[in-house]
Amino acid sequence: MSGYDYDLIVIGAGSGGVRAARIAASHGARVAIAEAFRVGGTCVIRGCVPKKLYVMASRFKDEFDDAKGFGWHVGETAFDWPWLVAAKEKEITRLSGLYEQTLSNNKVELIRARATIAGPNAAHFSDGRTASARYILVATGGAPVLAPHIPGLEWGLSSNEIFDLPTFPQRLLIVGAGYIAVEFASIFARLGAQVYLAYRADLPLRGFDEDLRKRVAEALTIAGVSHHVGALPTRIDKTSKGFCVSMSDGETRDVDAVLVATGRRPLTQNLGLERAGVATRENGAIVVDEHSRTNVPSIYAVGDVTDRINLTPVAIREGHAFADSVFGDAPTTVDYDCVASAVFTTPEVGAVGLAETAAQSKYGALDIYETSFRPMKATLSGRNERTFMKLVVDAASQRVVGAHIFGHEAGEMAQLVAIPMRMGATKRDFDATMAVHPTAAEELVTMR
Ligand code: NDP
Repeated sequence: MSGYDYDLIVIGAGSGGVRAARIAASHGARVAIAEAFRVGGTCVIRGCVPKKLYVMASRFKDEFDDAKGFGWHVGETAFDWPWLVAAKEKEITRLSGLYEQTLSNNKVELIRARATIAGPNAAHFSDGRTASARYILVATGGAPVLAPHIPGLEWGLSSNEIFDLPTFPQRLLIVGAGYIAVEFASIFARLGAQVYLAYRADLPLRGFDEDLRKRVAEALTIAGVSHHVGALPTRIDKTSKGFCVSMSDGETRDVDAVLVATGRRPLTQNLGLERAGVATRENGAIVVDEHSRTNVPSIYAVGDVTDRINLTPVAIREGHAFADSVFGDAPTTVDYDCVASAVFTTPEVGAVGLAETAAQSKYGALDIYETSFRPMKATLSGRNERTFMKLVVDAASQRVVGAHIFGHEAGEMAQLVAIPMRMGATKRDFDATMAVHPTAAEELVTMR
């Protein structure tokens, strides 16, 4: 591999890029990774990790309330937003440091600069340097898209900024009803904000099973979230006390902040892709084959920048598969079957496989098994809450092709149920599995 400065230049030190760099280096490649911001990417710095910490913070509200039913007398409680922001910051700084340590332990050179593609085998860095490499991996991720384009949209915050607001927003309007919107609605409502959720569909979480969508909407209402269903802001005006948001349903809302969570787009602008002739789709996503290779043989791309399944674990798998294939002499592709995901509302959503309607289109006849029950903890706490589970079974093969869970630890359950589903388990396999009692997950093997 001589003749090049490096065997591999990775652009972007997020989940996918760091994994690819580390594994490529462990296979003996000379690797550099360029990152202009902090090492760790969206997930660690302003996504999954801080979000889950805030979810945990928000759940104490329910714990304090529920404790009374179990004989605990909890004194006065108060929430300190700056404390949480500072604690979160400390933790992500620690994690970012660990990522850097991993790179350094694996002899990956960290270039603290923005990189652009200068050609099929060359990258230019914002510190003025240019370097050549046998391969380039683009792992630049995505960035929030703020929509709709209305007067005053510039006052809207994206999920990038919401984590670090200097003061807690007592009144928050959230636009959109995807993962980010509903998670933050659930977080901020529990932390004490009046939350308004405005979305164009009739239910949140398009693409998820209809029964889960209804339950998420109900749970948000129970948490105190006001829904503007089928309505979006038409303008945002700055006022002396915050912002006044005019809505398409004729209402106006006075709020302290507006979070716009209307999706993300692949981060490919000004990356120099055209200099190497790398093909992109209309939304900017880099077109890749099953080996994450672009139309330019020396350039690969993994993670959200390719807009396949935009989840951290998928980017990590793609990065790992790339490194094994190109540097480990072990051609590997990623299996996108049965990718489980969770939405960390409270209670949370865990989903694997196909929603009922999608399964119907694919398989035709289905057997549907459902259960809805009061979680054990809610008996003494008196909390108005139910857990819901649904198994979608292909009638012909009896394979379980969808599992949809709404309840506490649904994400944990989804992770585990994804294993038998990926292995092709039938409903009979589920039924033959002994229950663990008393748990919520036992319902997955006792539904008849
Ligand atoms: P999503 O794609 O999940 O949701 C976007 C939301 O914005 C939808 O409600 C959509 O409405 C709405 N929307 C899109 N365009 C417009 C528009 N022009 N006007 C009004 N509303 C609009 O994106 P998120 O931003 O929530 O999340 C981005 C990605 O991050 C997700 O794809 C997910 O992969 C990842 N993520 C994963 C998490 C997890 O695994 N727990 C957590 C957070 C993010 P409609 O439904 O009508 O199209």
